[in-house]
Amino acid sequence: MLSNSKSIDFQNLPLEYQHKAYMDSLTNEDKRLLANIKRFAELLVGDPDFRIQLQINHKNPNNVAKAYRLPLNINHLRSFWHNGYLTDRYSKKEAEHSPLTIVWDKHLHTIRAHRDGLKYDQYVQSTNPLFRAWRARQVGRCDDTLAASGVGITHPSFAFELSEGCTVGCWFCGIGAEQFKGFFAYTEDNRHLWQSLLKQITALFGINPLKTAFCYWATDPSDNPDYDRFILDFYKQTNFVPQTTTARPLKNIDLTQRILSLYDQHPCVFNRFSITTLDQLRAVHQSFSPLELLGTELVMQHKQSLASAGSKSPSGHAKEKIERLVARGQSQEKMHTKLNLNIDHTTIACVSGFLINMVNRCIKLVSPRPVSDKYPLGYRVHAEGAFSTAQSAGALMSQMVESHMPSAIPATQVVRFHHKVSYQSLPNGFQLTTPTRSFDVTAYKCSALTGEYLYKNSKNQHTYQQLLKKIVSEGAELFQVVQILQKLYQAGLFLDE
Ligand code: SF4
Repeated sequence: MLSNSKSIDFQNLPLEYQHKAYMDSLTNEDKRLLANIKRFAELLVGDPDFRIQLQINHKNPNNVAKAYRLPLNINHLRSFWHNGYLTDRYSKKEAEHSPLTIVWDKHLHTIRAHRDGLKYDQYVQSTNPLFRAWRARQVGRCDDTLAASGVGITHPSFAFELSEGCTVGCWFCGIGAEQFKGFFAYTEDNRHLWQSLLKQITALFGINPLKTAFCYWATDPSDNPDYDRFILDFYKQTNFVPQTTTARPLKNIDLTQRILSLYDQHPCVFNRFSITTLDQLRAVHQSFSPLELLGTELVMQHKQSLASAGSKSPSGHAKEKIERLVARGQSQEKMHTKLNLNIDHTTIACVSGFLINMVNRCIKLVSPRPVSDKYPLGYRVHAEGAFSTAQSAGALMSQMVESHMPSAIPATQVVRFHHKVSYQSLPNGFQLTTPTRSFDVTAYKCSALTGEYLYKNSKNQHTYQQLLKKIVSEGAELFQVVQILQKLYQAGLFLDE
């Protein structure tokens, strides 16, 4: 249906060109069509009045299109909204009556594939082998243990905070943003620090992992009026404009326009607006045309939204809120339902790498964890420290790599499987399964013996050194046992608390 007929070989394009190549392949007409379908989908999912109007006018839905100024044949989107056609969704019949739904699905699939490619793509791997191996272990463990959150997390290597705290104050903030204390202004000194830091990171880890970074965390871009100047510098260093997510796109419209215009010039990855109220959705639609928001996903968090993204992680401020309500005698289960919290949404923390705050000049090495009393914000801080210059930041990160990313299992580590690994013995070895993966270990003479001791170690809690000694004393060959344990370690199957 789209006039674009060029087929693009994305696999052979560098990361920064994939999204751009696709967006550039669309004609203006394609873009207008997609932008209007997108606006329709946002209204359908986010605005109850629009849904009522569709119901009332289901025989003449184009009356609704006219009222909402959508130049679109809504009849060609029936499998999205019409009760009589919903069951045809994703079936062969869908194309007969809902060709525009298929156009939209294809578009979404393409842009999401480019974003999700950041997770596994060798192209974004670091030049630092210890960092690369550590991140691979984190990705494996997270896929196994984070339930529904594991799928959505792309594991950026770096996040930069350009403010301290956040003025928005969402009750559900999954990473527990603190009160706003100030922002990192684009002064001469700060510009120098920022640009030098990006160069320092590139020298230490390579340019590609830096391209996965984004410039907010427990902060909102709208709190820094100079935000776009920093991401423009980022683009000049990396050839990549990082993703922007903001919950306050209307707070400083000029800033938002500048961010959107950077995307228009260099469409590297789509942006996101978090929509927290119905009024905000309507105001965003008033302020930006469908075409202006083609590269911006609206993440519908408000209570009238039908989007599954509306369900929230019970971490951070949401966890604190639930605990307060439970202390006052409310049922935890009922509160989860009422507040649309989803226990499978175990964390919103996505970084496996360095979290760098430019205001208080602090660096943390972090990795995602399912929310718990031990990890209330849904991530573990492996190490943290302060820096004053780009050089001291580099030295600090190098030291964290050295101390926290061993290439082999440390002698004193208790070797136990993480809690999502199931063990089964096989005649010539053993099998490990997790919710997402399966491993048969049968290639070595001592596979069965090693498996047996590993299994027992969930109770014995021997260190790596002790475990090796035990297995070898039973007649296994040291080299083989080390190989087996090292492979399982590298796959992220051991607990790393
Ligand atoms: S969710 Fe985002 S906007 Fe809301 S308080 Fe947390 S950091 Fe701020």
